[in-house]
Amino acid sequence: MRHFDYWVIGQGIAGTSLTLSLQRLGKSVIVSDNNHLESSSLVAAGLMHPITGRRIVKSWMAEELFPFAADFYSELEKECNKKFFHPMDSLEMITDAKTLNDWNGRMSEASVEAFISNESVKGYEKILQQHLRLIRVKQGGWVDLAKLIKHFSDLWKSNQTLINLSAKINSKESAQEFQKDHDFIAERIVFCEGSSIRFNPAWNWLPFDLAKGEILTVKIPALPNDAIVVHGIFFIPIGDSCFKVGSTYSWVQLDTNTTQEAKTELIEKISKTLDVDFEIIHQQAGIRPVGKERRPFLGVHPMHENWYIFNGLGSKGSTLAPYFSRHLAEHLVMNHPLLPEVNIERYYPKRYN
Ligand SMILES: Cc1cc2nc3c(=O)[nH]c(=O)nc-3n(C[C@H](O)[C@H](O)[C@H](O)COP(=O)(O)OP(=O)(O)OC[C@H]3O[C@@H](n4cnc5c(N)ncnc54)[C@H](O)[C@@H]3O)c2cc1C
Repeated sequence: MRHFDYWVIGQGIAGTSLTLSLQRLGKSVIVSDNNHLESSSLVAAGLMHPITGRRIVKSWMAEELFPFAADFYSELEKECNKKFFHPMDSLEMITDAKTLNDWNGRMSEASVEAFISNESVKGYEKILQQHLRLIRVKQGGWVDLAKLIKHFSDLWKSNQTLINLSAKINSKESAQEFQKDHDFIAERIVFCEGSSIRFNPAWNWLPFDLAKGEILTVKIPALPNDAIVVHGIFFIPIGDSCFKVGSTYSWVQLDTNTTQEAKTELIEKISKTLDVDFEIIHQQAGIRPVGKERRPFLGVHPMHENWYIFNGLGSKGSTLAPYFSRHLAEHLVMNHPLLPEVNIERYYPKRYN
């Protein structure tokens, strides 16, 4: 029987970064995954963009999360001798006077100003549809999550850290019961199941608001590859004149099938952005593990003192996972307190009190 300090269930970006954070604090970890049966990380574009939404606000904890993520991925690149992280400015394409006015108002606010670059933008005039301005947003980029996860999947399979196992939970089981069928034992279990959490009755009281998303890989030979164009959708240059373009949001059909409807929606948006030819290469779909309050879920199960969760990364896994995996690891190993905004304690159902 092999003994471990931690069993991490699920090898998406949450499980991968948590395993690395625990290992860095000297802990032994076994990881199990069901062969990425339902992996949002393998579909994600990996965009990191510090200014969010129509309201044009700095994203939550951007000052801490972006530099932390950049350091985390850069260190991994050195360690693995592979490129995962592509720091890159984004160009917000502004096509109407009201939006420009809103941006002009926001850009003078200190919290947003820190993420805006005054460096001029050239080379996009004849490529994009008519627009008033391109605003350069800095400190972002994209992470090749699929490549990163594959790297650690291969490495951890070869050194028996990762096993192919679909962990099935019956909420009445104790942690010891749950572990008894396996040839290893761990002191603590951390559930990093992404959207598959909906099949796990032990955590069904957490307020998730799962969102299906679809994304295209598009060949656009004329579009420059030195920045990410953002115009409601994003165009992320991934090499060979190809771009990840996305993504759609749907809360009704929670499956990983691609749809013609989403493809049509994205093609219409591409046509409103580009004034050049493009060719659709590939379409993918996944389910984002979004929390109702749009904050990650970290902490201990109210009934099982050695069951923990790391989930709720929503549409920002590449930005949130590095910082909050370290945050959870420091809580687990050094007993550091969890930030109240991410601590699941506040959702404990009355039946557990
Ligand atoms: C179309 C789309 C575009 C996106 N674009 C971006 C983007 O540009 N930037 C960004 O930051 N985020 C993006 N996201 C969101 C991002 O994918 C998530 O935030 C992140 O990947 C969630 O990671 P996770 O590890 O929690 O879950 P997942 O990546 O889903 O990983 C969970 C893993 O656990 C496995 N698993 C689940 N249950 C079990 C079990 N019981 N036993 C064993 N294995 C199990 C699953 O098969 C999977 O491999 C996008 C998502 C979608 C769908």
